[in-house]
Amino acid sequence: MIVKPRIRGFICTTAHPTGCAAHVQNQIDYVRSQASLVKDGAKRVLVLGCSGGYGLSSRIVSAFGSGTATIGVSFEKSPEDNRTASAGWYNNIAFEQAATKAGLYAKSLNGDAFSDAMKSKVIDLIRTDLGQIDLLIYSLASPVRQHPRTGVLHRSTIKPLGEAQHIKSVHVDRGEVIEVDLEPATPEETANTVAVMGGEDWEFWVEALEQAGVLASGFHTLAFTYIGTELTWPIYWEGTLGKAKEDLDRAASAMTPKLAKTGGEARVAVLKAIVSQASSAIPVVPLYVALLFKVMKERDVHEDCVRHIHRMFATQLASGAELRLDDVGRIRMDDVELGHEIQEEVRRRWALVNTGNLAEVGDLAGFREDFLKIFGFGFAGVDYDADVDPTLGMTISS
Ligand code: NAD
Repeated sequence: MIVKPRIRGFICTTAHPTGCAAHVQNQIDYVRSQASLVKDGAKRVLVLGCSGGYGLSSRIVSAFGSGTATIGVSFEKSPEDNRTASAGWYNNIAFEQAATKAGLYAKSLNGDAFSDAMKSKVIDLIRTDLGQIDLLIYSLASPVRQHPRTGVLHRSTIKPLGEAQHIKSVHVDRGEVIEVDLEPATPEETANTVAVMGGEDWEFWVEALEQAGVLASGFHTLAFTYIGTELTWPIYWEGTLGKAKEDLDRAASAMTPKLAKTGGEARVAVLKAIVSQASSAIPVVPLYVALLFKVMKERDVHEDCVRHIHRMFATQLASGAELRLDDVGRIRMDDVELGHEIQEEVRRRWALVNTGNLAEVGDLAGFREDFLKIFGFGFAGVDYDADVDPTLGMTISS
């Protein structure tokens, strides 16, 4: 079939197999073009949420930056004869093929990471193939979680807390700056969001791995958060998602004393805003990102997903690294985004941006380009008019 982007709101319902492979390969090429990361870092890494965004880049940087064996878990749609898979399904295959070719161990499991069944599967795989793991990257972004102990299906909500907010945003398809009204979340909606995106499942994973005896001495674990600035606080840090992210901080503090007994720790890393499937769904964020990208690109300090994660591994996860921590003990990778001069300029543009000047003061084109790339569209060298087999020649069992 000929695969073209089919966009519905903040999701693209098609993904290009060859384009997704190019996306993965470009990231690998970037990592290979950099100096190799310290050889004494983690050698066996488990990445939860490995198929896209920050999780995929973490897996690529671990594997191709320091020769790490990786197990990845994600929840992706497999293809059918007349329907493409989700992008992450193709990304996993492209990653595994490239890793295997490079002589690196890589296995990807597809299914619900919140379930006990997936935890058991991963533990069995670690026991059989790796013995133990040194690092767990927790990079899940999901709208729902079925609680493994109560069976309750929790749905997350992206809403402010307390008062309704009237705030600037952008209609990405139409390229129009709009004003949106965001109703505040109920306490129940907030609790559900914490249940999905908070730290409980991260703790369940570490507990399960620890009880199974598959954590190496000195085991570390890292989860990702976003804090941003007052422009995004109403919808993010001071909203339902912020409450969930605060719960990651709680979980890190609860886990670290236990892990410290073997020289390990649990930390939260604050990452910069990028375009991902998860972040495109958050109101206000696309407008903020469009302005931020323009300002950062003009100053030549823009980082895409893989460059950002590479800097995190190189400067914060290497052994002996001097950690850039905040008062809660989080690793701050958002230092460049939050730089005084950058934020001052973003704030100035935020006040004056409208539909007429958006292309001049913001980088909506860059936002759209990155959005399409997530689904494998827009890569040089990929023939988008060519017939491709969405199943990649595989027999797909449901
Ligand atoms: P993403 O949408 O690109 O990736 C999410 C991953 O989670 C995918 O691999 C998906 O398959 C997996 N997943 C979702 N539900 C799952 C389930 N039930 N079982 C197994 N896998 C599941 O997301 P992202 O933007 O890379 O976000 C990853 C983390 O980084 C999140 O914690 C997010 O809050 C954080 N973060 C993102 C940004 C940003 O700008 N995108 C900034 C800072 C921090």
